[in-house]
Amino acid sequence: MVTDTLKDRICSVLARIDTVAGRTGRSGKDITLIAVSKTHPLELILEAVRTGLISQLGENKVQEGQEKISRWPSDMTAKAAWHLIGHLQNNKARKALEYFDFIQSVDSEKLAASLQRILSESNHSMPVLMEVNCSGEAQKSGIPMDKAKELALFIAEKCPLLQFKGLMTVGPLGGNEQKIREAFSNTFKLKEQLTPVIGYPLPILSMGMSDDFEWAIEEGSTMVRIGTAIFGARKYPEQREAL
Ligand SMILES: *Cc1c(COP(=O)(O)O)cnc(C)c1O
Repeated sequence: MVTDTLKDRICSVLARIDTVAGRTGRSGKDITLIAVSKTHPLELILEAVRTGLISQLGENKVQEGQEKISRWPSDMTAKAAWHLIGHLQNNKARKALEYFDFIQSVDSEKLAASLQRILSESNHSMPVLMEVNCSGEAQKSGIPMDKAKELALFIAEKCPLLQFKGLMTVGPLGGNEQKIREAFSNTFKLKEQLTPVIGYPLPILSMGMSDDFEWAIEEGSTMVRIGTAIFGARKYPEQREAL
């Protein structure tokens, strides 16, 4: 067989993570791999989890995540944690809390307050990350860097049922290495600067995707979100129709 199997691709990503983590004095075990399964069918996701190498999955849309999560086979012993990594609209907050295990995209006081209010009905809590827009690109979601301290303080002080674990960011798209590293480095520095502001350290920095995760790890990432390098290119409905 000349084509890589899914397991080969996962092993290759894990080996690359291990190598680069080693260069920063850490080990691959210090970096959490989120397999981003958006647009891919549940069958392929199950195959990835059955390798025993994947236990954390990422989806960027509540509806798509819900469809997959609710079809998870009940006889499957391997469990996976589902991370919501895409922008969350206020009116989908309840659904997101119902289905997902981790919300990485808290980017406004309004959303944080909604999540807190819904959680308080049942006194459950949810681990979250605050999404920051490290590139300043207008089309990107995430709180602007210069507003991040204020939002972090709001989450830490006003939202006790949100377990505030750290930051998430998407690097500049199509930027050069220097620009991408700079944006990642600024996000790492922001995370460090938040410790005295909120009174405790944030353990998680979710940054790095298929094309930039090695730079992200070198700049301090502790969690990478990888889709294409594991599952292959995404097929969106428009593209399928065009074939
Ligand atoms: C799609 C997506 C990823 C994964 O991107 P790849 O380039 O396929 O690895 C990571 N993070 C977010 C927020 C995404 O939407």
